[in-house]
Amino acid sequence: MHITMVKKELADGQPCKKCMQAEEMLRVRDVWDRIDDVVIADEADPQSDGMKLGAKHGIDVAPFFIVEESGEETVFTSIAKFLKQTFPDAKRPSRKATGTVDTVAALDELQGKTPQEVVNWALSRYGNGCGFAFSGAEDVALIDMAAKSGHAFTVFCLDTGRLHPETYHFIERVRDHYGIEISLMSPQATAVEALVHGKGLFSFYRDGHSECCAVRKVEPLQRALSKLDAWVTGQRLDQSPATRSDLNVIGKDVAFSGRGAELIKFNPLAAWSSAQVWAYIREERVPYNELHDQGFISIGCQPCTRASRPGEHERAARWWWEDETQRECGLHTGAGD
Ligand code: SF4
Repeated sequence: MHITMVKKELADGQPCKKCMQAEEMLRVRDVWDRIDDVVIADEADPQSDGMKLGAKHGIDVAPFFIVEESGEETVFTSIAKFLKQTFPDAKRPSRKATGTVDTVAALDELQGKTPQEVVNWALSRYGNGCGFAFSGAEDVALIDMAAKSGHAFTVFCLDTGRLHPETYHFIERVRDHYGIEISLMSPQATAVEALVHGKGLFSFYRDGHSECCAVRKVEPLQRALSKLDAWVTGQRLDQSPATRSDLNVIGKDVAFSGRGAELIKFNPLAAWSSAQVWAYIREERVPYNELHDQGFISIGCQPCTRASRPGEHERAARWWWEDETQRECGLHTGAGD
C-alpha cells in the first residue's frame, strides 16, 4: 500500500490551517509515519505536483489522500473516512478521566476562544464521554470541528419519528461523510402509543408542543445524556433572544444528569451568528440538510417546522402557533416546555 497526502499552500505562502489540523490528527492517531508521500498543492502554481494531482482526480479541496493498493487508487477527501477505512486499527484516544470541572474558571479561559478551540478543549478532557447532539446545520459544523480535533467523540440524534424524509437522508450523508457512528435515540414506544391513542397524532396544535416533545425528545435525550459526562450543542445567543439570553460557552447542565456527579454543557457557537455558521459550512464544505435550499432555516420535526418567510426570525418558523417565549423543545430546560 502506498499513501499520498496532498496538502495545500495558500496563494500568500501561508500553510493551509485545515491541512495542519489533519496532520495533527494523524499524529494523535499514531499513523503519521505511515504516510509515504506528502505533496504540496501550491495555490499560486497550477503546475505544482499537488495541484496536478487535484486536477487529475477532479478535487479542489485539501487535504486529500490517495491510497494505492494492487494498482487501484482510492481517493479520500474526508480524513475521518480515510482513517476508518485505511487504518481501522489506528490508536483511538481513550475515554478521558474526568472529575469535577471548575466551570467558572473554565468560562474565563474559554471566553473569546474560537469554536474550534472550545471543541478541542472539551474533547481533550472528555473524549468520547462528550456527546454531540446532532440535528441542525450548527451541529454538523461542530461535528466537522470534532472530526478535525483528532480526539474521540460521540454523536447522537433524537429520532422523534416525525422528522422530514430529507432529514433522514441528511443523517445518513453525515454518517457517511465523516465515517462516524450516529446513535439514533427513539422515544419509548409505550409512551408514544399512549399519547397518540389518547390524543391523536397532532395534539400539539391544540395543546401546545410540550407534551409531545417530552415524549419524543426530552426522555430520549435524558437517556442519551445519562451515558455521558459532557455534551455539546449548537445553540447560539441570537437564535432566540427571548429564551437564550444567558447562554454561555460552558456551564454545568442543571436540567439533566450525566453518568457522573455532574454533566457539563458546551455551547461553542454561543457568540456566532447564523452568517458565521454558514460561512464555515461553505468554506469547509460541510454537508447540510437540503431543506435549507427550500427556505427552511431552523429545522425540527416536519409538522412543527415551516419554511421561513423573508425577514422573519429563524425561530418564528418553529411552533409558529405558540407564543415566542414558549418556542423551546425542552432540550435545554429539561422541562419539556
Ligand atoms: S417538535 Fe412537534 S412533532 Fe416533534 S416532538 Fe415536538 S411537538 Fe412532537
